[in-house]
Amino acid sequence: MIDPRVVDTFERCRGRSPLLVIDIDRVRERYEALVAALPDATVYYAVKANPHPDILRCLIDLGSHFDVASIGEVTQCLDVGATPERLSFGNTVKKEGAIARAFDLGVRRYAFDCDGELDKLIAAAPGSIAFCRILCDGLGAAWPLSRKFGCAPDLAADMLRKAAANGLRPGISFHVGSQQFDVDAWDRALATVADLRAELRADGIELELVNLGGGLPGTYRETTPAIDLYGKAIAHALHRRLGPSLPAEVLIEPGRFLVADAGVLGAEVVTVARKTSYDEHRWVYLDVGMFSGLAEVMDEAIRYRIVTERDGPTGPVVLAGPTCDSADVLYQRYEYQLPLALAPGDRVFLLSAGAYSATYSTVGFNGFPPLDVEVVR
Ligand SMILES: *Cc1c(COP(=O)(O)O)cnc(C)c1O
Repeated sequence: MIDPRVVDTFERCRGRSPLLVIDIDRVRERYEALVAALPDATVYYAVKANPHPDILRCLIDLGSHFDVASIGEVTQCLDVGATPERLSFGNTVKKEGAIARAFDLGVRRYAFDCDGELDKLIAAAPGSIAFCRILCDGLGAAWPLSRKFGCAPDLAADMLRKAAANGLRPGISFHVGSQQFDVDAWDRALATVADLRAELRADGIELELVNLGGGLPGTYRETTPAIDLYGKAIAHALHRRLGPSLPAEVLIEPGRFLVADAGVLGAEVVTVARKTSYDEHRWVYLDVGMFSGLAEVMDEAIRYRIVTERDGPTGPVVLAGPTCDSADVLYQRYEYQLPLALAPGDRVFLLSAGAYSATYSTVGFNGFPPLDVEVVR
């Protein structure tokens, strides 16, 4: 189940636990599979999913573009050789100084979702593509992103008119929610984009960019459709809603999909405990938890596949991290079964842990260091 090169790396790094091993070949495979499944769209890798420089370098070589959220991510990409034309500043929440700095560095694509942000772009990023993020319901997604980002379509229309009137080039973006199980989620959002496009056209304004956002899945406990099914559904929606002449730029911003399956997180059992004499649930405390990178277990939203080196009969467990914070519980409601023979010192592997893990770890809560990372090629 785990690639032999990854197994070898864990052997070589015995004593380093917890450890995230990233297999760069898998990132390359995923990128190529996506480009084959959806040739209409330019890939902008959402850097926040995993900004490891080796991942960025691999994607630069493959021709990827990058969705960045801060000046820090802008420089992370530029430092490893991405050119600024390949960057899109996709965070809707930016200080004007950050926009001005990115503009100086050559970045020419920016997201906004409110009038105040649009004013900053008019002031600090003249002539750039300004894409307005519209609200999405997030239905069908494990990690919906809620209503923090985006605005209603009528506001979007008004602001895009204002953007065009002020010399910005109008675009629209949306995000259907991360780990989206429903391949038709993009069609629902694109229907709104089509209406907006028609409305703007009536005013002589042409939409230059549509950004399909993220949402493509990693492989966790629940099965998801295969990538070519997503590709077919999205391409169909794109042509049905925006064809025959698509906007000049069509972007997709996968984060999770490109890197989740490329990571295996090796951890160690610290303690196995029973809380009462009658409850058969064992509490299994690992040396990795909510504060060392597994932030996405919040509300048990993302359910990693977990394997151990033990065979034999299994029983129900509650999984928890090693820190002295009671929030540091991984899975309690959602039942995991692990071998009854599991003991302190045993190794446990969380599969598909390459996205939203390493950079989510704290700098040293309770004295535990940030998540250690190793790369295989
Ligand atoms: C996080 C993010 C993404 C990536 O989302 P995934 O579901 O991981 O693919 C894409 N676009 C924007 C603007 C984001 O914030």
